[in-house]
Amino acid sequence: MELSTPVTKLPLVGPTYARRLEKLGIEKLEDLLYHIPHRYLDYRIVSTIESVQIGETVTIQGNVDSIKNIYTKFGKKIQLAEISDVTGSMQSVWFNQPYLVKNIRKGERYSFSGKAELFDRKMSLMSPEYENIENNQNTVHTARLVPIYPETARLSSKWIRGKIAAVFNTLINEIKEYLPDEILTKSNFPTISESLKYVHYPNELEEAERGRERLAFDELLFYQLKSLYRKNDWQKIKSIYSLKVDKKILEEFKKGLSFTLTVSQERSIQEILTDINKDYPMNRLLEGDVGSGKTIVAAAGSFAAFINGFQSVFMAPTQILAQQHFNTLKNIFDLYKVRVSLVTSEGIKADLGKSDIFVGTHALIHKKLDFDNVALVVIDEQHRFGVEQRAHLVKKTGKGRRSPHILTMTATPIPRTVSLTVYGDLDLSTLDELPEGRKPITTWLVPPEKREGAYGWIREQIQSKKIQAFIICPLIEESQIETMKQIKAATVEYEKLKKVFRPFNVGLLHGRQSAKLKNEVLDAFKKGKVDILVSTPVVEVGIDVANATIMIIEAAERFGLAQLHQLRGRIGRGEKKSYCLLFTESKSQNVQSRLNALKENKSGFELAELDLKLRGPGEMFGTKQHGFPELRIAHWSDTRLIQKARNAAKEAIENPQNFPKLIKKIEPHDIAPN
Ligand code: ADP
Ligand code: MG
Repeated sequence: MELSTPVTKLPLVGPTYARRLEKLGIEKLEDLLYHIPHRYLDYRIVSTIESVQIGETVTIQGNVDSIKNIYTKFGKKIQLAEISDVTGSMQSVWFNQPYLVKNIRKGERYSFSGKAELFDRKMSLMSPEYENIENNQNTVHTARLVPIYPETARLSSKWIRGKIAAVFNTLINEIKEYLPDEILTKSNFPTISESLKYVHYPNELEEAERGRERLAFDELLFYQLKSLYRKNDWQKIKSIYSLKVDKKILEEFKKGLSFTLTVSQERSIQEILTDINKDYPMNRLLEGDVGSGKTIVAAAGSFAAFINGFQSVFMAPTQILAQQHFNTLKNIFDLYKVRVSLVTSEGIKADLGKSDIFVGTHALIHKKLDFDNVALVVIDEQHRFGVEQRAHLVKKTGKGRRSPHILTMTATPIPRTVSLTVYGDLDLSTLDELPEGRKPITTWLVPPEKREGAYGWIREQIQSKKIQAFIICPLIEESQIETMKQIKAATVEYEKLKKVFRPFNVGLLHGRQSAKLKNEVLDAFKKGKVDILVSTPVVEVGIDVANATIMIIEAAERFGLAQLHQLRGRIGRGEKKSYCLLFTESKSQNVQSRLNALKENKSGFELAELDLKLRGPGEMFGTKQHGFPELRIAHWSDTRLIQKARNAAKEAIENPQNFPKLIKKIEPHDIAPN
């Protein structure tokens, strides 16, 4: 039995259990050791039967004198056991677990942990944990701090505890320390094997927490090492072209725009121009709220490529966004006779001859295109693409070991702790202000009893102000792509709302519509022919319709704050005052205070940080959509530990000779991007 042994080698673990374990990320025995409890039940008080008190959580150990099923009037099955020790006897009660009568053997010694209460006027242990101690074995499920593990359907903590207990003593000797003493001492960390012992078999909760902290540190450290390695590797590549733009020409370009750039747009453009002048390629992430004006910043990069005589490529996640970028870029570059072409699955729309800028969807990856001299690749809404898709485009536009400059963009505010950990290889530019003239959006929470009133108000607004509205359907499943369920829900909602809002025009937008239909719907909305657009939550983050000033978000509590903020960013783009109505049926204090944060005028960043704080780890709805990796042990809110791990990672990269065992643990394939 070794760390690398597959779990299927364990007795009684067949394909069914292997599949369940896989859901928890457990394939090898080592993974079992690293499956860390998230809480503990305190069953440490072992009492004689005579001194058990009502209301006490307690462990008793004694002989099972009898066990039987009894049936209540209402057809329920109750399991009753009589247990005795030298001081007396008491009963134990379970509900609807008839198999216990076979599992628990009469006449043998057992350990029981649970809460003592009066049942049928007798002192009873209610639904206790139990285990056989006939042969004086150590207890696993009772009489100690009992760990509760992350579980999955039909895989209980008890089962997991049993398996860990079966392998722990053998395997723990195989776990070798890989951090230098210095780091352990500095942070007062236990060794790796001590840490594992502490989390699975703690004597005290403090001990468990010390173990968890060390393991969390390691988890963060590995993420950071990998991103720093990626950065190192990247800097060894050469850029295909280094680009230089004359100040005067740049000024002229800016003058040609119909607006003045914001300070952060100016700053980001400068950062990009500095990067693309280097002889290793840029790898920069441009982050900014919806509407903060990322497109023009990227366009400045394309402009630099064009001026130097090279091409650039602009990839967007949906046809509609690609189309929108195509129009925007054509407008911006009209003066310069830049040849922009649009590449989607429906075909290539290009000016005659060569192209200077290719705008498109992922069709850019698959179609045959003359990417002869691409100097810059821009990827919009980067989290909507898979790692492979991004890598593919970079490879396709690259030349052997040389790569074009890469600019990725996202409207997802990435909390600092996350970007430090997993995006440490990217340089970051941030648009932290909106262009002038944007009016703050008034946001209301709307309980169910006010729904009718809200609909009435919207009708009145559309009539009197000639404005338009979005209605965003509830988030049904957490998924990066739109699921069928989601589309059905939107369709049902649409049919309903058509009636509610008669005689206004209601449109429907979702991802499974044909590109042609989508464009028609969106076009009608842009032209004001559709008054209300019902849409799924995942679709078309970037659409820009200034006259849409009202947004309803259904079941708002299912979204993350940053996500709500992003959706809301589609309104408030014009002159007229905008309103966001968050519909929620939840009365929970937590939900109310979370959603209330949206009433204040917070930035996407602040909201993302708040989200991390207010939602417990493990229930971070929205993380998958954002593309953040899920931490198994550490928490994203643990700023101090993240900083500590970051420092250690830097030290290890700079002085690898001091960290030989740690460095060995990083495999080249681990360094692939997250
Ligand atoms: P993002 O992609 O960040 O959501 P866009 O690039 O689509 O935002 O810009 C949103 C809108 O704001 C566009 O209509 C764009 O023309 C406009 N815009 C961008 N920068 C400015 C600015 N500095 N001043 C005024 N309007 C701007
Ligand atoms: Mg955009």
